[in-house]
Amino acid sequence: MIIAVDGPTASGKGTIAKALALYFGLPHLDTGLLYRAVGRQVQMNGGNADDPHHALAACDFADSLLEEDILRSEEVGGLASRVSVHPAVRRALYERQRAFATQAGGAVLDGRDIGTVIAPEAPVKLFVTASVQERARRRWLEMTGRGIDVVLAAIERDIAARDARDMNRADAPLVAAADALVIDTTHFGRDAAIEAAIEAVQHKLSAH
Ligand code: C5P
Repeated sequence: MIIAVDGPTASGKGTIAKALALYFGLPHLDTGLLYRAVGRQVQMNGGNADDPHHALAACDFADSLLEEDILRSEEVGGLASRVSVHPAVRRALYERQRAFATQAGGAVLDGRDIGTVIAPEAPVKLFVTASVQERARRRWLEMTGRGIDVVLAAIERDIAARDARDMNRADAPLVAAADALVIDTTHFGRDAAIEAAIEAVQHKLSAH
């Protein structure tokens, strides 16, 4: 069984995907990490994330890079969003995601285009979202909790810019698949959101 979890940054899709993987006993892939690794590799190469040749060359990153904490930073998230615009980068990362999705027994993948491009045949597709203000608030809480001094308005601006880039790119834009179930976590706590997702999956499976 493939479970596709898509949605914008800080919507709670990663938390939900991990919880679903645990609950249903499936392996999980955070596909955003792959784009983050490419963004970070461009930076380490001294290249430009907006240049498709530099970005494609960075797809050759070492797997050990995926373990590095720096991938989780806002800066690398921004670079990931810039490299992910290039069709050649998306093509280079496709096989790896596709192989993970189609492994025997199934898998949970979270990202932006899992239900639309990577695994359009997935029987369960969730699109997890929340208002920009709420997502910025969550990111701000998380960062200030880690001792990082950031201004809420700046985070809100960055998230809105990242949304716009992800939604407006020509190749695999961030959009809910026609058959995705939308979960808006704006007014949900973590546990309630996870519960709603598990129920949604069970409902889909029983209808299948
Ligand atoms: O989900 P995360 O914030 O880690 O993703 C970082 C960036 O990678 C996103 O803003 C998006 O531009 C890109 N991405 C993508 N397709 C995916 C996952 C992430 O384009 N499946």
